[in-house]
Amino acid sequence: MAQQDENILKKVVSHAKEYGFVFPSSEIYDGLGAVYDYGQNGVELKNNIKEYWWRFMTQLHSNIVGIDAAIFMHPTTWKASGHVDAFNDPMIDNRDSKKRYRADVLVEDAIARIEDKIEKEVEKAAKRFGESFNREMFLTTNPRVLEYQSKISETNVRLQHAMNANDMAAMKQLVLDLEITDPVSGTRNWTDVRQFNLMFSTDMGSIAEDANKIYLRPETAQGIFVNFLNVQKTGRMKIPFGIAQIGKAFRNEIVARQFIFRMREFEQMEMQFFVKPGEELKWYEYWKEKRMRWHHALGFGPENYRFHDHLNLAHYANAACDIQFNFPMGFKELEGIHSRTDFDLKSHEKYSGKKIQYFDPEDNQSYIPYVIETSIGLDRMFLATLSNAYREEKLEDGSERVVLSIPPALAPQKVAILPLVKKDGLPEKAEKIMDDLKYDFRCFYEDKDAIGKRYRRMDAIGTPFCVTVDHQTLTDDTVTLRYRDTMKQDRLKIAELRSSLKEACSLTSLLKRL
Ligand code: ATP
Repeated sequence: MAQQDENILKKVVSHAKEYGFVFPSSEIYDGLGAVYDYGQNGVELKNNIKEYWWRFMTQLHSNIVGIDAAIFMHPTTWKASGHVDAFNDPMIDNRDSKKRYRADVLVEDAIARIEDKIEKEVEKAAKRFGESFNREMFLTTNPRVLEYQSKISETNVRLQHAMNANDMAAMKQLVLDLEITDPVSGTRNWTDVRQFNLMFSTDMGSIAEDANKIYLRPETAQGIFVNFLNVQKTGRMKIPFGIAQIGKAFRNEIVARQFIFRMREFEQMEMQFFVKPGEELKWYEYWKEKRMRWHHALGFGPENYRFHDHLNLAHYANAACDIQFNFPMGFKELEGIHSRTDFDLKSHEKYSGKKIQYFDPEDNQSYIPYVIETSIGLDRMFLATLSNAYREEKLEDGSERVVLSIPPALAPQKVAILPLVKKDGLPEKAEKIMDDLKYDFRCFYEDKDAIGKRYRRMDAIGTPFCVTVDHQTLTDDTVTLRYRDTMKQDRLKIAELRSSLKEACSLTSLLKRL
C-alpha cells in the first residue's frame, strides 16, 4: 500500500468518527476487535445503500422477492452447507512480530506483487515502443513476463491443491518458497499453518441436549436455501426467479484490520437466483453484467472496478468471480458472484430428508434448481462510498475544506435549511420551509455560527444542498440554493425547491439511470 493511500484510509477512519458515521464498538471500554457501531450519519448512509440495492433487486426485477430470515438456524443447516467441516481459514503466525495472518492471503498478495511486476514491464515497454506497442504480443512473447506468468500459474496450482486437499504443510511450504516476509518484522520466521473455523457458536437452552450448540450465521444465503420451497410455493414463483435478503452475518476473522472492510459482525446483501440446470452459466454472465451496472450508476468511476475470476473454485462452484473495488488499500473484493450449482439445495435435501425440487410445467419434470448468487458486503459498500467521496480541497481564497461528495441519493442529509441570522423572523421562515420539505427529504436545520462555518459542516457530512434564508426571502419568497460540489449558488423561488431537489436526490432518478 502506498504511504499516501494508507494516509487516506486513516483520514477516512477519523473523519467517519468525528462526523458521526462510524464509531468503534463499546469505545468507552477501549473497543472490541473488528466490531463497529454506525452513528447518526452512518446509519442514514447505510440505510440508503440498502434501499438502493433492495429496490434495484426486488422492485426492478419482478421475478425477485425478498425475505428476512432469522440469524439463528437449526444446527444441521451448517452441517449441510459444509460450514461445520470446511469453513476454515489457514492461519499462520510470525514468531518475531507475533502477528497472525491468513496464509492464503499472504500467498495471494505475493501473486498480486508478481502481477504488478508484469504491469511495470508493460508500462516500460509501452514507453519504449511508443505507438507501435502491441500489449497482447508483448504479454505472450517477452521472456521476463513469461517467467512471471509461469510463476503465477504454478503458485495458483499449488495454492488450489493445498486448499482443496486441506494440506497445511504444503501451504507453509508455499509461503516459504515464495520467500514471503512479514510486513511488520521483515522476517520469515513463520509457525506452521493451522486451520481455524470462523463460525461463532453459542448455546440454545431449549433444544435436545446433543444439539444445543448453535451458530451465529456466517452468511445469509442458507436462510434463503432453507426457505426455497416456502417462497416458491406461497409466491407461486416460476423458474428463473430470485430471493433477496439483507442481514447480519458473523465471522471470527483471523485478521481483522482495515476498519470496516473486515469485521467480525457485518451485514450482507445477497440474492440467490434459481435457474434450470444447464442454464447457469448464461445467468452467471447476466448477473455479472447487471451487478456491475448497479455499481457504475453511482458514478465512482468505472476505472475503480474490475472483475477478478476465482481460480481456486470452491468445490461446489462451477464459476465464480469477485467485483473488486479500488479501496484506499488497493483493489479488493467488494462483491462475489458465484455459480453454486445445486450443491446447497441438494445437500439440504439429503440432510433434512425432505424433497426440495421444482416442478417445471414447461418440461413436465422435477429438478433441483441451480443457483447463481450475488453477495455484497454492505459495510464494504459503505467504505467504498465513503473513501470515494472523501476529498480535501484547496479553495481560491487559500482556505481548505473537506467535502464528502456522496451521490445525493445516498447522502445522509439531503438539504440543510439555514437562516442567515437568528433574528428578524428568519428562523421562523426557515422552519416553515423545513416543515414543507421534511416529508419528502431528510432536512437538517441549523441557525448557530456564521454561514460559512455551517456550509463547511454540511460539506463534511456530504449534504448536497444548503438552502439559505435571508432578509430578501421575507420580501420575495426566494432563497439561495448552494451546491455542495461546485459551491455555486442560485437564487430561486421557494416553490421551485421541491422539484429541483427531487430530481437530484431521489433514488428513483438513480434507478432510472440503470
Ligand atoms: P474475503 O475473501 O475478503 O474473506 P469472502 O470471499 O470470504 O471474503 P464471501 O463469503 O464471498 O466473502 O462474502 C460475500 C461478501 O461479504 C464479500 O464480498 C464481502 O463484501 C462481504 N464480507 C465477507 N466477509 C466480510 C467481513 N469479515 N467483513 C465485512 N464484509 C465481509
